[in-house]
Amino acid sequence: MTFLVTAGPTREPLDPVRFISNRSSGRMGYALAAAALESGHEVVLISGPVCIPAPQGAQLIRVTTADEMADAVQTRMDTGCDVFIMCAAVADFKPRDVSPRKLKKSDGLPHIELVPTRDILASVTLPRDRRVVVVGFSAESEDLARNAQKKLREKNCDFICANDITRMDTGFDADQNELTLFFRDGSQRHFPRDSKLNLARDIVKICIAIAENR
Ligand code: C5P
Repeated sequence: MTFLVTAGPTREPLDPVRFISNRSSGRMGYALAAAALESGHEVVLISGPVCIPAPQGAQLIRVTTADEMADAVQTRMDTGCDVFIMCAAVADFKPRDVSPRKLKKSDGLPHIELVPTRDILASVTLPRDRRVVVVGFSAESEDLARNAQKKLREKNCDFICANDITRMDTGFDADQNELTLFFRDGSQRHFPRDSKLNLARDIVKICIAIAENR
């Protein structure tokens, strides 16, 4: 099977040296890529800017902005994949205008207008001839279950992996994670705190089981 995995943050530029981004380290997405490779699958890894090495054997496509990630995902989706895991922490907003020159402190406080980025998961066009298993991630600081279930429906995923980002020892920029998976039939499965690689192995197994049952 071919896994298409996104990972890491995106950067949305304000000027040539400044950007809006988030604390995503890319570790969960890279662990998913490693787990899929480990079980003998092909992996295309579309990654925002991170400081960790890509797992050997993955086809790495580097992107910076949410728009670049959206285009890379659609292009790669069009050539075909079996499992699509949208693990990247895509910036939700981007500056409407990007200054071609560095904004100067002496010019006073800049007025920055934000506009929403494209929601990649919600807007990607899936191939008609292939039933791709679609997985989303959801980082929540409140109402984890309700928000995850809403995203599961709105973004048309087979399941959503939700994590509680109020915890400092798991989730964003941490080695470990704790996840609850929410499925379309209303069921859920909790995975207690473990390494991101072990959790990734479980997620990959579930993706394969869904794909094989189609
Ligand atoms: O709505 P929220 O950002 O919490 O949704 C998280 C899920 O949506 C993740 O799987 C993330 O990769 C995806 N997402 C996306 N495009 C965006 C924002 C989020 O694909 N612009």
